[in-house]
Amino acid sequence: ITILGIETSCDETSAAVLVNGVNLRSHIISSQIMTHQKYGGVVPEIASREHSLHIRPVVEQSLAEANVGFKDLSAIAVTYGPGLVGSLLVGVSGAKAMAYAAGIPLLGINHLEGHIYANFLEHQDLEFPLLALLVSGGHTHLIVFKDHGRYEVLGYTRDDAAGEALDKVARALGLGYPGGPQIQKTAQEGNEQAFKFPRAMLEPGSLDFSFSGMKSAVLNALNSAHMRGETLNVPDLAASFQQAVVDVLVHKALLALQQTGVKTLLLAGGVAANRLLRETLEYELARQNVRLVYPSPVFCTDNGAMIAAAGYYHFLAGDAAPWTLNAVPGLNLKSQ
Ligand code: ATP
Ligand code: MG
Ligand code: FE
Repeated sequence: ITILGIETSCDETSAAVLVNGVNLRSHIISSQIMTHQKYGGVVPEIASREHSLHIRPVVEQSLAEANVGFKDLSAIAVTYGPGLVGSLLVGVSGAKAMAYAAGIPLLGINHLEGHIYANFLEHQDLEFPLLALLVSGGHTHLIVFKDHGRYEVLGYTRDDAAGEALDKVARALGLGYPGGPQIQKTAQEGNEQAFKFPRAMLEPGSLDFSFSGMKSAVLNALNSAHMRGETLNVPDLAASFQQAVVDVLVHKALLALQQTGVKTLLLAGGVAANRLLRETLEYELARQNVRLVYPSPVFCTDNGAMIAAAGYYHFLAGDAAPWTLNAVPGLNLKSQ
């Protein structure tokens, strides 16, 4: 079974050819980071124009590198949400046209499921039930998977996502976009105990998150120092905030493992690339006999391989999208 996966939800145009769910034959990512960097974030109108320019060469290169043609594909899987509507539409319309012309099924993939399925690319021995901690630029979710396509959302963020908070704090610290990797890098030179930022744990037992107040605490510290004419140590701020975010994520993940009794934790989304998060979970989970699984960094941020991986399981389940498939910018994960 050969799946072409296409991802265009934000600022990466990516395509991958995946055989039987595990054999990644090609993986092309055309990133627009350099284009958007000068604006300090993704500019939607520019993003969709860039996708239009890149989708064809990216798909052609991925087929060429995999040494396959459209006639060799079993299906085309494409992200249809969540994301920027103009960006999503480029991928959805392109995939629709290609699948229709090739006479093969179209698979509409939820980008968030894709992030989680990135774990299946490199681990063939995952056994349900699985707990997933999805930490990306726009989402923070704890989800328990009973089987492929059968999951329950246990908790999610009530305001900012973890990645969004890292990006906003990085911006305030003058570290640039995207902020998460910059915070990680700058934090190496800082003391994580220099600032006592709050850890928002919410009601006892709650598996929801809230990062907005934690983000504001950093912004307030910066502002009041500014009023006093002082400057604060940026590496100390980065290290202290990164530690606060990781403490909350780890606390909630442990709580969810305890509440569900699940013995495998999957990390997913761009923030899953964070070294402190991985190392802290590694340490904590080893003590509880829980297995920790995470994708290689390239499969944590947006990519076509994860869409092909999710597509593979949807193909096996006999799912196919109608030719009327549309972009759904606000698509979320609903328990099913
Ligand atoms: P979503 O998937 O929720 O729609 P998105 O696609 O924009 O949002 P991702 O591509 O999954 O998000 O992840 C990007 C986020 O990951 C950004 O917030 C970025 O700062 C963060 N990130 C990437 N690498 C790291 C890292 N090493 N440490 C912390 N955060 C990171
Ligand atoms: Mg991106
Ligand atoms: Fe993403």
